[in-house]
Amino acid sequence: MTNEQASDESDNKVVLMLFHNDLRVHDNQTLCTAARLADNGCLLLAYISKLADSVTPNWGQAYHFAQRGLARQQFLTESLADLDASLQDLGNRLLYLNEESVHQDSSTTPLSELIETQQVSDICVSDSADYAQNLAYKALQDRYPHIKWHYESTATLFKSMPTKELPKSFTQFRKKVEYEHDLLSAHKDLVISQTPARLPPVPKTLSSSDYVFEPKTFDDSVQLEPNFKGGEEQALAHLNVYFESDAPSDYKVTRNALDTWGHSTKFSPWLANGSLSVKVLLNRLRQYEQEVVANDSTYWIWFELLWREYFYWYGVIHDKDLFLFKGITQQSPSNRHNKQRFEQWQNGETKYPIINACMKQLNSTGYMSNRGRQLVASAFIHELGLDWRYGATYFEQQLIDYDVSSNWGNWQYLAGVGADPRGCRQFNLKKQTQQHDPDGIFMDKWLS
Ligand code: FAD
Repeated sequence: MTNEQASDESDNKVVLMLFHNDLRVHDNQTLCTAARLADNGCLLLAYISKLADSVTPNWGQAYHFAQRGLARQQFLTESLADLDASLQDLGNRLLYLNEESVHQDSSTTPLSELIETQQVSDICVSDSADYAQNLAYKALQDRYPHIKWHYESTATLFKSMPTKELPKSFTQFRKKVEYEHDLLSAHKDLVISQTPARLPPVPKTLSSSDYVFEPKTFDDSVQLEPNFKGGEEQALAHLNVYFESDAPSDYKVTRNALDTWGHSTKFSPWLANGSLSVKVLLNRLRQYEQEVVANDSTYWIWFELLWREYFYWYGVIHDKDLFLFKGITQQSPSNRHNKQRFEQWQNGETKYPIINACMKQLNSTGYMSNRGRQLVASAFIHELGLDWRYGATYFEQQLIDYDVSSNWGNWQYLAGVGADPRGCRQFNLKKQTQQHDPDGIFMDKWLS
């Protein structure tokens, strides 16, 4: 233990951990640090309904959604309920701070009230590539300069950027990472943080009825795929089921399917809100490679996880440029927003059946396959000639696996203003339909 750690632990601290995209107790270094700091004191574990505005509205968008889509809300609600149950098992509980109810002019919010009445000494958060979230943290630091902040890495395979500079393309990034790091080795497990056996208590001054998380119920208009249930318990169950099946050994050939559960891993919603640790996932993949088979398909799961990693660091480096029309290039595209065409796309009412089917799937389930996302984004940009940021914002509203860097990074990539050395990519919708839905089964399902 370092001197700093020893002195940290000697006083009776009131430590506040703000959960964001780390909604789990397994392999959660932020929770471990918060628990250690509060060892002789008290621990507040909070989720804030809306600390930050989702997207920086600095591009004057006419379309800015008021709240998350229903499927996204439902998945998040289930995730928080599961987290609350796990925290209660460990002797603490989740505090839910509803900042949405606060009047804009009010300087007192549930969070500021909690910090001030409980005399919080330390705040623990996970590193994030979310520009708006980081701005909100900065505002808190300015407001409470006496509070000590502790950051931990929980979202990525690498604790810091794995290359000295971020390469301009994914391929260069992948080659460097594979050359310089040992994560490819099947014989080396990544180190996982141990879940604390018991958590320090909530302060006695807080009543058990304060900030209680009350999951709301959703009606039948939301049709999450039944296997997509939020929470780490479900995430870990899915991890086991997936790696006990044969699916990983075929992933590379099946991953482009538009609508079949086992044809891609379906880890994204749990990875996105942190109910599943990506390090635990990679260790499980390595175990599968050792015990069952290591082939092109298992390599390709690693390859896709590296895309996720690349976009995370891309988001960190380019922060607010992630939301610029011109992206990270010098010139804005010539596309324009058009309300009517945008709404046709959004509602699945364009003249392209494959696009309509994908959008209907997204609207009712909150999920769309990777191939579907590529097609609807390509049509949005090319066939419909629209401003890509509106498409990205709509995805942000609807996707249960919404992740700021993966979403905005992929949209930039397809719009030709991001990390793609080849520039704008257009998919041939007719060919793609013949290839991925030759018998029209997917379109029949969503359009009838
Ligand atoms: P699999 O094919 O099984 O891949 C395994 C994991 O690798 C995924 O769970 C995901 O974490 C990661 N991954 C795969 N492809 C990508 C990729 N292209 N970029 C980054 N990570 C990837 N993914 C999100 O998690 N959140 C988003 O908000 C998001 N928005 C997207 C927007 C567009 C326009 C496009 C083209 C892609 C987007 N993706 C996003 C990436 C990808 O479509 C999803 O991660 C994938 O479809 C999720 O299904 P899966 O878990 O079965 O993926």
